[in-house]
Amino acid sequence: MSDTTHQFPGTVHVGRPGHPGHPGHLTDDTAGPEYAHYRIVPAKHHARTAGTVLAIVLIGIVLNSVLGNPRWGWGVFVEWFFAAPVLSGLARTLVLTGLGALFGFALAVPLALARVSRSPLLAGCAWAFIWLFRSIPPIVLLLLLNNLGYLYETIWIGVPFTHITLLNQSTTDLISPFFAAALGLTLNHAAFSAEAIRGGILSVDHGQREAAAALGLPGTRQVRRIVLPQAMRAILPTAFNDVIGLAKGTSVVYILAMPDLFYTVQIIYHRNLEVIPLLMVATVWYLIILTVLSAIQVHIERYYARGATREQVAVSPLAALFKHWRNVRAAARSESTAARLAAHARTTSDAGTTTGWAQRRVGGKVGIHNVSKSFGTLKVLDNISIAFPSGSVTVILGQSGSGKSTLLRSINHLERVDDGFIDIDGDLIGYRREGRTLYELKEKDILQRRRADVGMVFQSFNLFPHLSVLDNLVEAPLASGVPREQAQAEARELLARVGLADKADAWPRQLSGGQQQRVAIARALALKPKVLLFDEPTSALDPELVNEVLDVIRQLARSGTTLIIVTHEIGFAREVADTIVFMEGGRVVESGPPASVLGDPAQARTREFLSKVL
Ligand code: ADP
Ligand code: MG
Repeated sequence: MSDTTHQFPGTVHVGRPGHPGHPGHLTDDTAGPEYAHYRIVPAKHHARTAGTVLAIVLIGIVLNSVLGNPRWGWGVFVEWFFAAPVLSGLARTLVLTGLGALFGFALAVPLALARVSRSPLLAGCAWAFIWLFRSIPPIVLLLLLNNLGYLYETIWIGVPFTHITLLNQSTTDLISPFFAAALGLTLNHAAFSAEAIRGGILSVDHGQREAAAALGLPGTRQVRRIVLPQAMRAILPTAFNDVIGLAKGTSVVYILAMPDLFYTVQIIYHRNLEVIPLLMVATVWYLIILTVLSAIQVHIERYYARGATREQVAVSPLAALFKHWRNVRAAARSESTAARLAAHARTTSDAGTTTGWAQRRVGGKVGIHNVSKSFGTLKVLDNISIAFPSGSVTVILGQSGSGKSTLLRSINHLERVDDGFIDIDGDLIGYRREGRTLYELKEKDILQRRRADVGMVFQSFNLFPHLSVLDNLVEAPLASGVPREQAQAEARELLARVGLADKADAWPRQLSGGQQQRVAIARALALKPKVLLFDEPTSALDPELVNEVLDVIRQLARSGTTLIIVTHEIGFAREVADTIVFMEGGRVVESGPPASVLGDPAQARTREFLSKVL
């Protein structure tokens, strides 16, 4: 039976006493409260009960065998557990683990970045390093480093071909066994951690990099603020595994006659022959180290899980501490901010920037001049020329694969064109002009210009899930040097404009698709772009959410910003567009006002396309 409420109308009212009856339902208000007196018998889980009993028995057997057998020598264990040599061995183990983990991880980050870099030489060198140090067993590596003095008597650091010497020392003096151990463990740990970090970086959705680039965030900021924090979720479990391995792996330093925890214990039991109790001393200390590390891991993982799911993540004490520290720093900063705010207000020419988007602005004039672009043998843009006047609203139509996205991405320089030029208000995309010479721009300058000129909204929103809604909006303005207070005030205003004033502190994943896309539009607007590009902004949305996004774009269409919109919403196109451009096979087949292109298309292909989508 699919609808039990009709069979047992009384159940509808359980827990809702006094609920007025609906017509068509039996409304016996007396039946509801009656259930409150029923006795509830919990379901029986026989297998679970049997398992629990078995577990208790097993625990009893283990405890009895461990505590009841005098050969475990718990008296000796207690005697040695806090003994001075054991503690100093433990300290050495901890120091070596700490150094190896710290320097290893510090070295691993640039290694991993080099490994995914576009420079083949850099990537190759990083690969070779990782290949080498993952292959060599740590014990062999330590011995090699310890015997380096045999190969090179002195180590000299200075400027070649000059007399400048920074360091010139005998190798055996410089590389003590402790140094060799720390260095060896660092190199080994770096090789493994680099792979964990690379795995984390690869796990970050490509759209995140794309969105960060579209916002013009500088390269280092993209890595530090967008990629690594999200990669951390994938990195942490493996990284902690490696650190735990390292803590135990430090025991190989016995080969250099260094008394770490394990070696100390061995020395002692060779003297007093109490092998088992002393091994237990080492074991219990290793257990304690592992427990502490695991506890730390839980807290760090919880910190980086922010925004990863729709559930509110409980704030860990560590995260609370971090937040407190940030607030203290922010308070310290805010004193100087008032002065900077005033200075910023003076430097920005139009006095009313704080009202931001609310103001009418002058949009950019975009010119596309004989642009072509191929992917391999596929010509995706074929000698396209169009002009988008300042403040105009253009809708680009065309079948999937006709090159619409590629055209938008070229305007934003996310895609490099093979031939032809694109300019915004006379500034060529990707080049700087001096007289009749064009200088190719560096990535840094491209990003900076993007930040100043062009905003982009993607089909898949690409909000940064680990940043709150407000932080998504202020990220790019902060990168352009807008003071935080001002950026936040403007961001709140933008959120109010897209109807999401109350969502400033939410995580993106807690929002509906339509809300996420409205945040994405607000984020693009935070840069006050001259040109705003929309690549199928409503295609990923459920039908009932489409309009809330289109409404926001409708408002924008009267703000002066130049809008270029790829969409399949023909009704919307007819309503807001000044110009409709119809593309096919990388060419502009037809363009003109909606009335003519949609109402009375000149080209057969346009008619055919419209007949499919209308
Ligand atoms: P549209 O947005 O109109 O659907 P696109 O501009 O995304 O079309 O793509 C146009 C054509 O270029 C498609 O055939 C697509 O497969 C191809 N294409 C797009 N990007 C790439 C790429 N990075 N590498 C290879 N082919 C691509
Ligand atoms: Mg597309």
